[in-house]
Amino acid sequence: MAKIAMRTPLVEIDGDEMTRVIWAWIKRDLLEPYIDLVLERYDLGLPARDRSDDRVTLDAAAAIRKHGVGVKCATITPNAQRVEEYSLKAMYKSPNATIRAYLDGTVFRTPILVRCVEANVKSWKAPITLARHAFGDVYKNTEFRVEVPGSAELVYKDADGQELSRQRIASFTGAGVLQAQYNTDESIASFARSCFRYALDQNQDLWFSTKDTISKTYDRRFQDLFQSIYDDEFAAAFAAQNRSYFYTLIDDAVARVMRSEGGFIWACKNYDGDVMSDMIASAYGSLAMMTSVLVSPDGCYEFEAAHGTVTRHYRRHQAGESTSTNCIATLFAWTGALRKRAQLDSLDALAQFAHKLEAAAIQTIEEGSMSADLVRLSTHANTITLSTEDFIGAIRSRLEAM
Ligand code: NAP
Ligand code: MG
Repeated sequence: MAKIAMRTPLVEIDGDEMTRVIWAWIKRDLLEPYIDLVLERYDLGLPARDRSDDRVTLDAAAAIRKHGVGVKCATITPNAQRVEEYSLKAMYKSPNATIRAYLDGTVFRTPILVRCVEANVKSWKAPITLARHAFGDVYKNTEFRVEVPGSAELVYKDADGQELSRQRIASFTGAGVLQAQYNTDESIASFARSCFRYALDQNQDLWFSTKDTISKTYDRRFQDLFQSIYDDEFAAAFAAQNRSYFYTLIDDAVARVMRSEGGFIWACKNYDGDVMSDMIASAYGSLAMMTSVLVSPDGCYEFEAAHGTVTRHYRRHQAGESTSTNCIATLFAWTGALRKRAQLDSLDALAQFAHKLEAAAIQTIEEGSMSADLVRLSTHANTITLSTEDFIGAIRSRLEAM
């Protein structure tokens, strides 16, 4: 059988620890035998980041902008302990944060559903994709502790230092806390465009929610910007696909989400998205079954698993022990990226292969062969716990049988 051809490079971003091991095995066993891969590879493993003074992370981001699609392995975000472990020259920033900032992108997280792992919310039949606005608000706050009685004001000056606005916040009769936070129209608009674009791409409805009843200026600005961008740039395309944009108060959104069947995209402000993405991940089962896509407002895509480098498993792997690590989210990052590449380059055979590989992975699990984390969650009567490598092997056998 001739291998499937590609035209444009897919940006491959390698990473660290157990996911780096899985990465290589997925390529060797599930991709290279079937596809003449055209890749532009960037090694974001921590040693390579250190050698390049983290330049390689920006190069990878630039490559995604150039080629439009990337697939990324999980990477270590260094802390003090990692600086020592790898003798790093600096405590580099999270590669995901660097790439996201460069592409001005929004992260969409979607669970991968299998029949034998039931969502904790009984009504959820289809995945709920959560989009988090990853800029500003409480994550860029200025806050301090108030120690003595006094008063607080919020002051805004223009670039020349001229005071434009001054508002009283509160008087303190004793100790307390004080916080200021902000966002920008530019970032909110990018978030909105990424959300509308991805909803059309996925052919799903988009929900958006804020606390506009309480925050009548701040959250209201989010609501208004989403609405005007929708009306001006996306309403016609949504109508053509028979899809809708739905705004509602966050409280109402939460209630509706819990009663829904799923199958839509829910866009949230930064804090809401932080909390709700953890709620959705745990309600669907496992972080190891959660994919993540970074979408830029101009339509660049980076696919990855939502989980980290699975350090605890890697330590055992290093010690020569066999692990039972779940490769599904990393595999779906590859299939998602290959499908997107196929769509942009009109490569039907590649799109079909991505679909088949996903189906083979799901079938393997639904027939009872899976990694240990899934065995713990599964309602399947006869499960077989596979090692990391055997799980990939079982998916390959399924694929061959198809
Ligand atoms: P983690 O790698 O997601 O793993 C946490 C735990 O979740 C694991 O120990 C394991 O539990 C379970 N788990 C996660 N993925 C799994 C999989 N595929 N198969 C089976 N079990 C899985 O999070 P972490 O240990 O907090 O972080 C490790 C490193 O990853 C850190 O250096 C962090 O900076 C990095 N990180 C990177 C990204 C990214 O690149 N997107 C995201 C998050 C974290 P058990 O040990 O109980 O089996
Ligand atoms: Mg969180």
